[in-house]
Amino acid sequence: MTLRVAVVGGGPAGSSAAETLAKAGIETYLIERKLDNVKPCGGAIPLCMVSEFDLPENIIDRKVRKMKMISPSNVEVSIGSTLKDDEYIGMCRREVLDGFLRDRAVSLGAKLINGTMHKLELPTSANGSYTLHYADHSDGSLEGKAATLEVDLVVGADGANSRVAKAIDAGDYNYAIAFQERIMLPDDKMAYYEDLAEMYVGDDVSTDFYAWVFPKYNHVAVGTGTMAPNKADIKKLQAGIRARAAKKLRGGKIIRVEAHPIPEHPRPRRVVGRVALVGDAAGTVTKSSGEGIYFAAKSARMCAETIVEFSENGRRIPTEADLKVYLKRWDKKYGLTYKVLDILQTVFYRTDATREAFVEMCSDIDVQKLTFDSYLYKTVVPANPLVQLKITAKTIGSLIRGNALAP
Ligand SMILES: Cc1cc2nc3c(=O)[nH]c(=O)nc-3n(C[C@H](O)[C@H](O)[C@H](O)COP(=O)(O)OP(=O)(O)OC[C@H]3O[C@@H](n4cnc5c(N)ncnc54)[C@H](O)[C@@H]3O)c2cc1C
Repeated sequence: MTLRVAVVGGGPAGSSAAETLAKAGIETYLIERKLDNVKPCGGAIPLCMVSEFDLPENIIDRKVRKMKMISPSNVEVSIGSTLKDDEYIGMCRREVLDGFLRDRAVSLGAKLINGTMHKLELPTSANGSYTLHYADHSDGSLEGKAATLEVDLVVGADGANSRVAKAIDAGDYNYAIAFQERIMLPDDKMAYYEDLAEMYVGDDVSTDFYAWVFPKYNHVAVGTGTMAPNKADIKKLQAGIRARAAKKLRGGKIIRVEAHPIPEHPRPRRVVGRVALVGDAAGTVTKSSGEGIYFAAKSARMCAETIVEFSENGRRIPTEADLKVYLKRWDKKYGLTYKVLDILQTVFYRTDATREAFVEMCSDIDVQKLTFDSYLYKTVVPANPLVQLKITAKTIGSLIRGNALAP
């Protein structure tokens, strides 16, 4: 037999899964509803993604080598001096990155369907097929033509509002809402953001996260996120970041306004039967940094590698237990990273006092090195014990000075 797999969603997760499956000779269908989708996103990616996913230079619009952390009282701490000459945070446009990854998957053999999946029919027997019902947009129409596809296995890579997750009753997750304005700046103002990104913290810009100004292709992305139950507050918080960065954004013209949910933690069930969720559909965004692109692509690749392995390159149908091996491997590799970032967010994004302490702590060179290394290379590199001790002492010192430990 040849295993048939449908990958629903052609973002970084879906295309990465489809690439690995198609390369292994598995019959792979990649279903994407909008081929020119512009995913609302800051577009920041770590250096390890460029090498691990073999991204060409032209995918990276800007190389950020300087960051400014800005406290509630506007104390600015510059970080980035620990970076080596060839190290940077990549800034990309999602429409470019997503298009590249999708085209590459197709060139390796994945069959692209421009369609919107609206129903997933579950099998009625042990090895029975899954039937996907979708609107086929290949005629160029928005409503599309009703079509179906039968497969042995489904990878749900259809983002935070995943229909695949609903179909398998994967359970809900809490989510943050992120809002972003893309602003075209006058040349002199844009020059300031040439290779610089800013992160602002404070109750005025986010009660539980941070706000950002990221340089993009020919503009900046200015945005914020919050988990606050009243999602309508996001507009007030956006006004907060616009006010804080007002001087630097003067004369700017808004060219795009966008908002989207960001999952806060994994769904209760990420594999059910022969369906596996990856990326935002599974809930792989990290706390503290809100980073999701690399983890989406990586979770999807790991899931697809597990499918290739347990299907013996498409010769047998993997079981639910086989697919769950992907989750075990994922949790083993990144469980600690998620925990550490969760604790950081809980401790430091709590009040303006803890945020002041956080920014102060970022001025320490050892903290900067540790932060950059773990972001750029996705390794929780344990510092040597002396440095570790120094960082711990500095953290406590910052918290005490900022009166952040007061109840
Ligand atoms: C404002 C904002 C800023 C962010 N900034 C950053 C950042 O700077 N760096 C970072 O790493 N992460 C960032 N993130 C998070 C990041 O955008 C996500 O984690 C990432 O896009 C997840 O990739 P994915 O492939 O899982 O899902 P998505 O990128 O959401 O892709 C899902 C795809 O599925 C398609 N689809 C959905 N439903 C269907 C259907 N029924 N049928 C067919 N196709 C379907 C969609 O069109 C889409 O192409 C940000 C998020 C937001 C909202």
